[in-house]
Amino acid sequence: MKQSQMFIPTMKETPADAESASHRLLLRGGYIRQNASGVYSYLPLGYKVIKKIEAIIREEMDRTGSQELLMPAMQPAELWHETGRWDVYGPELMRLKDRHDRFFALGATGEELITSLVRDYLNTYKKLPMSLYQIQTKFRDEKRPRFGLLRGREFIMKDAYTFHDSAESLDEAYWAMYHAYCRIFERCGLTFRAVLADSGAIGGKDTHEFQALAEIGEDTIAYSDTSDYAANLEMASVLDQEEGKDGETLPLEKVEGKQEVDGNQAITAYWFQTRTERAVVFLKASDEINDVKVKNLLGTDLIESIAGSDEDVMHPEEGVRVFADNGLKHVARAAYYNQAENCTYFHLDPSRDLPIESFDDLRFIKEGDPSPDGKGAIKFARGIEIGQVFKLGTKYSEAMNATYLDMDGKAKPLIMGCYGIGISRTLSAVCEQYHDDEGMVWPKALAPFTIHLITVNPKKDDQLALSEQLYNQFVQEGYDVLWDDRKERPGVKFAESELIGCPVQVIVGKRASEQIVELAARKDAERVETSTAQLSDAVKQLLTTLA
Ligand code: ATP
Ligand code: MG
Repeated sequence: MKQSQMFIPTMKETPADAESASHRLLLRGGYIRQNASGVYSYLPLGYKVIKKIEAIIREEMDRTGSQELLMPAMQPAELWHETGRWDVYGPELMRLKDRHDRFFALGATGEELITSLVRDYLNTYKKLPMSLYQIQTKFRDEKRPRFGLLRGREFIMKDAYTFHDSAESLDEAYWAMYHAYCRIFERCGLTFRAVLADSGAIGGKDTHEFQALAEIGEDTIAYSDTSDYAANLEMASVLDQEEGKDGETLPLEKVEGKQEVDGNQAITAYWFQTRTERAVVFLKASDEINDVKVKNLLGTDLIESIAGSDEDVMHPEEGVRVFADNGLKHVARAAYYNQAENCTYFHLDPSRDLPIESFDDLRFIKEGDPSPDGKGAIKFARGIEIGQVFKLGTKYSEAMNATYLDMDGKAKPLIMGCYGIGISRTLSAVCEQYHDDEGMVWPKALAPFTIHLITVNPKKDDQLALSEQLYNQFVQEGYDVLWDDRKERPGVKFAESELIGCPVQVIVGKRASEQIVELAARKDAERVETSTAQLSDAVKQLLTTLA
């Protein structure tokens, strides 16, 4: 493609509101343009990369036996009422009304729609399992759209759904998807981790998120420095390895007022409110309460945590459930200021002095803690969630009455799995991992063009003629080539070439008449003079050395 004819609106200045490298470089390189907060156009360069990611995804999804379909972005509200999500999803769900006053949701996800499509057809075990996927624009009215494509309000997602008649069949599909996702992200050149994630209170337990490692990431991953253990921070379990008490127990002491307390002995209490019950959780003041673990312990999604309630936690009302973190099991002498009595307790032995129902793992893991798999110590890294695989179970099929006749002649709800990849977010994640100060440094598999052919001075006939010849040759060899044939200053052309970031640069300049050009990798920009006779081999060779 001739650059003079392409729509690549590069920007010299860094856009003021671009807070991440990917956002900045995609805007500056003319890959994307913002149309509204969290709403972007993919310009020709950006869309080329998107299509390459999509091609990889299609290949790997097809390989699992999944079939592609395309469902509408506009989804009838009735379907969302069937599952109750019209009300539960909240303001993130974009809604609209047609001329007949009928409501629609702009698809934030597709469980309702796909279930409504298959429920009449998948009526017997003979038709199961079934796997379907689509690549479709999704809408979520995010509270804080940011970092460009990383958190948009309109974005491209691959979503897949599988249907089964047994937990084993679901398990098989789940792991097939898991491995397909690994291959997809490897082929995209990403450094990523598949991590255990929280499934919330809906249905099945298994879910993994795929996290691309990047400083800008919003999620924290806890991983082992020796094994392949990795989990989202809130999911990492803390080993309870200590035994017995950490000292001698003494009689409980109660002192008037708020007394000075040794930080190592201080404990805190947190209140939790669910729809049906109230609970209080004790833990060491130096540890951090993990709401997700508490939520899973109480087995509910609807929860409010209230720190520092002034109720009397030492003598809670009847019906209040009392829990403590495992760490307190081993404490012999804790200290606690009970606001309700305006007293400080010393020598408090939690298992003796508090009405604790059970000790559980209810705190966040810390860096340096032993890895939950017993191998190595925990480290933290930041990640961008690029995909998630999820065992849904029967949540949607039950709500939507999607049943099949099993071998025993009984009607049973379909067992489901769902699997998503954020395609536009993946593009951004790749940018976060593949750039330098000058611009993008694309991995081969996703680069919009593999070769950037730069004619230093197209007004010189020999440079123009040789460039044209090389351009045709590269195209014939099957490369995606961007030919900078523009009459711009060389400095501008080189700077933009760095910004756009094609893996290989071929520069046709002063020595064109001698059939000599310069070859460079965008990665290190070291230019090597090469005769045109050897160029084809040299490019091939250079490409084998690049990511
Ligand atoms: P997050 O926790 O980041 O809001 P999510 O867990 O709600 O994401 P899923 O429902 O699992 O997202 O959607 C599947 C995939 O779609 C995610 O793994 C992510 O890659 C992508 N995705 C979700 N929300 C957005 C968004 N606002 N912009 C771009 N991609 C998104
Ligand atoms: Mg997710």
